[in-house]
Amino acid sequence: MDKKEIIRKIKNLKEKQDIVILAHNYQIPEIQDIADFVGDSLDLSLKATKTDAKNVIFCGVDFMAESAKILNPDKNVIIPDKDAKCPMAAMVDTESLGWLIKDNPDAEVVSYINTTADIKAISDICCTSSNGVKVVKGRSSKKIIFVPDRNLGLYVQRFVPEKEMILWPGICPTHHKISEGEILEIKEKHPNSEILVHPECRPEVIDIADHAFSTNGMVNYAKKSKSKEFIIGTEKDLCYRLKKENPDKIFYPLKSAVCPNMKKITLRKVLKSMESLEPKIELSQDIMKKAKLPLQRMMDMGRGD
Ligand code: SF4
Repeated sequence: MDKKEIIRKIKNLKEKQDIVILAHNYQIPEIQDIADFVGDSLDLSLKATKTDAKNVIFCGVDFMAESAKILNPDKNVIIPDKDAKCPMAAMVDTESLGWLIKDNPDAEVVSYINTTADIKAISDICCTSSNGVKVVKGRSSKKIIFVPDRNLGLYVQRFVPEKEMILWPGICPTHHKISEGEILEIKEKHPNSEILVHPECRPEVIDIADHAFSTNGMVNYAKKSKSKEFIIGTEKDLCYRLKKENPDKIFYPLKSAVCPNMKKITLRKVLKSMESLEPKIELSQDIMKKAKLPLQRMMDMGRGD
């Protein structure tokens, strides 16, 4: 079956099977094009609660689809490839975090949305890269255990010096390997470009940037900014959406910034999932109930960018 035929079938099945397709900003262009909605983690979580469709095809990685299921326990949430897993979410486990919580009974646990449902279930509140500062600022405890992204924790700490933050030593391999050298090389060739980076980047990278934003923060900023050129310090396929929504502007991606986990979702796999409505995200009622609370608390606070 060629690509055109797959896309035609996907379009037909949407209505027939009562499906909405949600896709993360890092998905390959073909997936972004067939999605009903493209956004960042927080956006997609919100969208999942607003859709009337019975079946949600989630084009992203495991923790995102889990969040959609937790917020919509009565819907079928389907991830076209169960192996699309975020390595950063796997860097924290409940046993080790449990020990840290025991050692710090006066601390609140803020978990980045990039965590498993089990970790969310023992957290006080979740956050995303767009509202991390707002969430930590709003906690009543002085001490915060922040999991799992150390770089995002260090970024948040810049804005909340009054909090004592215990940072879990996790990283996003895709963002952590972005170097100042790679960015500065592009800047030398395009001196009028603005540098936008993601808060999951290392502090040295954030220091040379004009702004640090979540992916949706970058999309919103690029629309408003008077600049015509931007260096994009996050997963390179965000540039596809940026260009589509700002055809008169130029976006320079970083060649090294690829998340192989996000690329596991393909058009063929999406079609197969739409036909079979498998594989579904399955979580226990107990975990969903416990994990919903910190997610809901975060959503009640809204975006921070
Ligand atoms: S870009 Fe990083 S944080 Fe996002 S899914 Fe890939 S590995 Fe996980």
